[in-house]
Amino acid sequence: MVIGTQLIDTFGRVHNKLRISVTDRCNIRCYYCMPETGTIFAPRAGLLSVDEIERIVRVAVRLGLRKIRLTGGEPLVWKDLGLLIRRLLGIDGMESLALTTNGVLLADRAQELYDAGLRRINVHLDTLDRDAYRRITRRDAFEKVMRGLQAANQLGYGPIKINAVAVKGQSEDDIVALARFGRQSGMQVRFIEFMPLDAQGLWNSEKVLSADEMVAILERRIGPLIPVPAADERAPAAEFRFADGTGTVGFISSVTKPFCGSCNRLRLTSDGKLRYCLFAVDETDLRPLLHSPDDDAIGDAIFGCVRAKWRGHSINSVQFVPPPRPMSAIGG
Ligand code: SAM
Ligand code: SF4
Repeated sequence: MVIGTQLIDTFGRVHNKLRISVTDRCNIRCYYCMPETGTIFAPRAGLLSVDEIERIVRVAVRLGLRKIRLTGGEPLVWKDLGLLIRRLLGIDGMESLALTTNGVLLADRAQELYDAGLRRINVHLDTLDRDAYRRITRRDAFEKVMRGLQAANQLGYGPIKINAVAVKGQSEDDIVALARFGRQSGMQVRFIEFMPLDAQGLWNSEKVLSADEMVAILERRIGPLIPVPAADERAPAAEFRFADGTGTVGFISSVTKPFCGSCNRLRLTSDGKLRYCLFAVDETDLRPLLHSPDDDAIGDAIFGCVRAKWRGHSINSVQFVPPPRPMSAIGG
């Protein structure tokens, strides 16, 4: 393993981000991610421990993966999250640590995680309508998420971003309400195009509400939007601000405008598999390497994963093969 060498793939993309899924379990059941019943979770014995994740991240940070995001499944159902955050924030060279959560347990754990040092959170919320929330997630937890957002805001978390998945024929009114909520609350709302990562194979291209269509809806119903040049030109979200000066919105258009050409991230699943793409069909198993004290082998595996990275996914082509794991088991 050569420390100081950048993690550059064969298409010249430098990698600096790692998304870590800490569990594949979740306390709600968004229909575009998990089936209502019958999900088979990874055996607990096969999941990475805090020590193991910390060790992998130490190596990853030395190689340049300095921006870390914790996700799941639902990371707040994992009891060791506070401990992991503390440990990761103690690693020299780490640039940022963020969390993606559905927010259901946020009111219960916001203080603990704030005390552990966490500040940046993305809360997943698709609608401000309680009944629609129940239909989408098959759980009645809307009020809890709203209480979680409030608690995080009061504690001083920031930035707090809201992630909403948009589905054609379902989300047109919700995106307007959420954008208005963002304008009032100062939270940034980001709309994500529906991707073919659901466990039940419900996706088809006709269900994708594209970023362009969302911009048109928001402009018609709220007001003109102006594109904002991205602070980080490799960030996946295209940002816009409302021309009246109040509020911004972002769009993650993985389907209609894939950003593979500037992708800079790797993913680690809760059972120790390294992936170079959400849609990858190959994975690199790090677990066997954890039995040996040799960190170089972990570093070499990270290099190998980056070298094997493909040019990009092919969602829009007939050759597209959905990955063998649903989003909840990859870590979105
Ligand atoms: N449970 C957490 C949450 O919901 O934020 C973290 C894991 S979840 C898999 C991460 C993100 O994946 C969520 O923000 C959700 O919006 C997104 N997601 C899940 N299934 C999706 C799909 N089929 N298409 C697009 N985004 C999806
Ligand atoms: Fe759970 Fe997140 Fe998947 Fe929804 S999107 S079922 S909250 S893992």
